[in-house]
Amino acid sequence: MELSHLLQGLNEAQREAVSAPACNQLILAGAGSGKTRVLVHRIAWLIQVEQLSPYSIMAVTFTNKAAREMRSRLDELFSENHTHVNTRNMWVGTFHGIAHRILKAHWQDAGLPQNFQILDSDDQLRMIKRVCQNLNIDEDKWPPKQAQWYISAQKDEGLRPQHIQETGDPFVRTMLQIYRAYEADCERTGTVDFAEILLRAHELWLNKPHILEHYRNRFPFVLVDEFQDTNSVQYAWLRMLAGTQSCVTAVGDDDQSIYGWRGAKIENIQRFTQDFSHTQTIRLEQNYRSTGNILLAANGVIANNSGRLGKNLWTEDDKGEPISLYAAYNEQDEARFIVERIQDWVRKGNPNNSCAILYRSNAQSRVLEEALLREGMAYRIYGGQRFYDRLEIKNAVAYMRLIANRHDDTGFERVINTPTRGIGGKTVDDIRAFAREQGCSLWHAAEQMLEKRVFTARAGNAVQGFLNVVDKLAHDASEIDIHGDVLSLDQIAQRVLDDTGLLVFHQSEKGEKGQARGENLQELITACRAFDADEENEELSVLQQFLDTAALDAGETQADEFEDAVQLMTLHSAKGLEFPLVFLAGVEEGLFPHKMSADDPDRLEEERRLCYVGITRAMQKLYISYAETRRLYGSETFNQVSRFVKEIPSESIQEVRLKAAVTRPVSFNRAYTQPSTRQPMYDTGEGTGFRLGQRVKHAIFGEGVILHFEGSGDNAVIQVNFSSAGSKRLVMQYAKLEAL
Ligand code: ATP
Ligand code: MG
Repeated sequence: MELSHLLQGLNEAQREAVSAPACNQLILAGAGSGKTRVLVHRIAWLIQVEQLSPYSIMAVTFTNKAAREMRSRLDELFSENHTHVNTRNMWVGTFHGIAHRILKAHWQDAGLPQNFQILDSDDQLRMIKRVCQNLNIDEDKWPPKQAQWYISAQKDEGLRPQHIQETGDPFVRTMLQIYRAYEADCERTGTVDFAEILLRAHELWLNKPHILEHYRNRFPFVLVDEFQDTNSVQYAWLRMLAGTQSCVTAVGDDDQSIYGWRGAKIENIQRFTQDFSHTQTIRLEQNYRSTGNILLAANGVIANNSGRLGKNLWTEDDKGEPISLYAAYNEQDEARFIVERIQDWVRKGNPNNSCAILYRSNAQSRVLEEALLREGMAYRIYGGQRFYDRLEIKNAVAYMRLIANRHDDTGFERVINTPTRGIGGKTVDDIRAFAREQGCSLWHAAEQMLEKRVFTARAGNAVQGFLNVVDKLAHDASEIDIHGDVLSLDQIAQRVLDDTGLLVFHQSEKGEKGQARGENLQELITACRAFDADEENEELSVLQQFLDTAALDAGETQADEFEDAVQLMTLHSAKGLEFPLVFLAGVEEGLFPHKMSADDPDRLEEERRLCYVGITRAMQKLYISYAETRRLYGSETFNQVSRFVKEIPSESIQEVRLKAAVTRPVSFNRAYTQPSTRQPMYDTGEGTGFRLGQRVKHAIFGEGVILHFEGSGDNAVIQVNFSSAGSKRLVMQYAKLEAL
């Protein structure tokens, strides 16, 4: 019964993968072919049929959200089979999450303080800026962002400063100088950045074979989803963990490798069969997600990449509707088009959260959000600004970090004068200089300076006030009351907001901002209340667990996760997900493929894989849109449709034609829309018989869209953006444009 249950709803190849005897496995298959499904069933199989302990299996996912989904799929499978397994305590998580868990357990052997804190990328950049200032490095010449990128890239490759050859090259010399000083600062303040978590965990095993041995024995089975996006350190870590005994199941799709820019190595897939002995390779070719047309489009686009491992996806599904391509006049028109389509879809009884709008760059979301807001539609953004990256939240969390660890310099600098308590830049500079001389934390420096009465009376009082607030909070947080209870996490957070004056400070900011910040801070209390601590973890306080989770969250936490809302996200964050209705917005040259990638064949191929990822998120219906003019990053561009759209087989895509009312003055109401009250800001071309945004045809240049009118009468000039010939200015009376 168990057997049939776990193999139900799987095809032959999937069954083979799920029920294979212990061995290394490489499951190489295209999008939507059930890779993740196989991985989940394999875990359940190992537990229920092979009788393995749930705690002897490690599963690595790409995001925390994917880890949560995996747990809940497992819960379902187990409950269908009346098996009780506490999936919460299973080792299912991201590479970072798992490596962090290991470092926390072996902090001493890893050379870290017990309460080490995680630096997110924002904090890391601040720290690097501080390092550059201390070293008197010219920030214009050597931007801190570049140094941040350099340091992370080295760590992703497993390189410490001592591994890097110092050549005479000024770039390498300067970067190394920063890297060294930054390392020393992290060491001193007990902080680790994201890349450091992985590198440290790797070094821990390298240097302490008995610890490695423990994990090798503990995890005879390791399963990794989205394997195509592992970087060098992750791969080395995995190899080390597996040794010669453990079985690794790697699941991936070379066509969906989209993190090369962050150090991911597609080659790891090819290396796998060499490095992991007796690997069973399984290919899945049937797609269960999308209609025939969507698959045709995806296959057509990705076929233009070279050096693929090669696979062809097919489906038993109908062709379904063709993909719709919409040429928008500008980004506003595009947003309006999308929102109207969603309204139609929802009117037919579909939930909001069955639609996703995907885009190449975060900045595109603003216009889409505004259009959704205008229509009063609920939406949710993934992977945009993280909840924990918001200014007011970072401030509150900085206090919480100081409570957990006074020597957290980043937290210290952030809130020493927030809310304002009269501590000036000069005082902070003095504390910094003192800390640097003494090689101690800012907190420690401030304490010593107070003792030695270095500050002026006013500054001294203010600094003392700050230290007292934090000490008092820390004291209260650890105090056990007469009932034997300690403060709960949300009570601690509430105290932070009240006792530091932070809530009042942010609420009193002008206008809507104050209100929004106040609401976000309240939301933090809610998040703390909902925080699900691992109670069996005696090493770590709930506060510390919360801080770690907040730092490791990759923009996935939003309080309203289960709300029925339209889903907005970048193409990168859409990996692994699926939605019945998908919009790919801004599919135009310069934006997608991004202009920085167009000239570099490797980067162009990565953009094409990203397009493949986007198309294959759609289950039933896909819309692709582009805007002929777009205002983005403060400037206006005229765009051609993306080359990727031209790679889609023409039989599976259809252009959306909107009936234009030729002689009506400009308004963007198309025949099918509600009348719009918004007027465009350009000359309208009244009396010319044409209107802005209208599609027209020219005998030589073909089809295009009217962008602009200049002058009037016989010499009136009209500017048209032609789909293939680009933007042209034509004298109206000779142009002989035909309205479409
Ligand atoms: P991606 O590459 O995008 O991560 P994937 O290969 O991991 O995709 P899944 O997400 O596991 O694919 O599966 C895609 C969809 O197909 C899911 O809705 C899944 O439930 C469904 N599916 C997978 N295998 C089968 C099957 N044998 N029968 C019916 N449905 C299936
Ligand atoms: Mg998947």
